[in-house]
Amino acid sequence: MSSLLLRGGIVIDTEPQPHVTEYTDILLEDGRIAALGTGLSAPEVLDVTGRLVLPGFVDTHRHTWQAALGATVADGTLADYLARILHGYAPRYRPEDVYIGNLAGALDAASSGTTTLLDWSQLNETPAHTEAAVDGLHASGVRAVYAYPGAPISTTPRTTFAYAASGPEHAGPQVAAEEWRAARELGLPITVHMGGHGRESADRGLAFLRNSGLLGPDITYIHPNYYTDDQLRLIADTGGTASIAPISEAALHIGYPAVGRLQAHGILTSLSSDSVTSGPGDMFSIMRTAYLFERARLAEDFTTRDVLRTATIDGARVLGLAETTGSLRVGKQADLIVVRTDTLAMSALTDPIASLVLSATPADVDTVLVAGEIVKHNGRLRNHDLSALRATLLESARYLAA
Ligand SMILES: [Zn+2]
Repeated sequence: MSSLLLRGGIVIDTEPQPHVTEYTDILLEDGRIAALGTGLSAPEVLDVTGRLVLPGFVDTHRHTWQAALGATVADGTLADYLARILHGYAPRYRPEDVYIGNLAGALDAASSGTTTLLDWSQLNETPAHTEAAVDGLHASGVRAVYAYPGAPISTTPRTTFAYAASGPEHAGPQVAAEEWRAARELGLPITVHMGGHGRESADRGLAFLRNSGLLGPDITYIHPNYYTDDQLRLIADTGGTASIAPISEAALHIGYPAVGRLQAHGILTSLSSDSVTSGPGDMFSIMRTAYLFERARLAEDFTTRDVLRTATIDGARVLGLAETTGSLRVGKQADLIVVRTDTLAMSALTDPIASLVLSATPADVDTVLVAGEIVKHNGRLRNHDLSALRATLLESARYLAA
């Protein structure tokens, strides 16, 4: 049995609500959380005294393949994104571009504290593209849900599957009906971009699902910002969940991020990076943006604790992984991050959760573990050579841009 002790951390757990326990040890055994307490021991010890230890973040919608395209849609709208990325770059992707995109994208996420992500895949031109995407996720070491319009392939304990539907707004009712039938035959949850492209298409898409009897708790709505209160009630009553990507929604004009409205309707809501083409993909930036949008609309009851919960355990719930990750409950997989506090910005640490949400940056993420395996340590990726990765990614970027 392999075991590791994280000794003396400032531990932030997320269930039932985010809370802090100082000077706490966490014992990991065989990749799982075995015990929390004081005076625990193990042959191998990681001293995390004075540092924050918390569950890794959960990103419920990331087009991971776009890692080579960072910031290529600056100052653009959704129309620019579609033209440049989906109709410009995407058709040029070879399987090797998909592989390095997914590997680098997943490691970029992991490096900034995201231990679980849903890879919303769009490049499945050939089976080789799909396999390259899954292989890239596997090689990264992160926990992943691979979402594409097809059946599960080459699965590992850290990879599960979802059905990425183009949906009634984009593909029309006939395609959507076929997608829903396929997903439910395969027993896969459905993740779909709906409700973010104006009121008319939000109305039309949701009405189609309702009238066809297709609504259900297996649907995650991405960008559901244009729904009315009545429509949110319908989603809540049928058990649907939500993924909000506040940065891309603001940047590309996909509606005002509806985190607080969704939660007020009792809809389980998570956060996502969406695309690094129009903003950063790290959960610190995403949490802060979501939090500030709520404060900006004078939602005084929305707190730093609420947004941390949304970025962790609620994300795990949305992905159906709440028994696996998202909190520090004994028995769960050891998906943990250690955040430094020895920077000037973090020194005061009056309220560790507030400091984490308001002041910390990806550079403060010292150590990342997924299933007890160290992916990042002392601020460096452990199993991958960063300069080699960058060289391959740059080569891919140059090919794609040529
Ligand atoms: Zn998306």
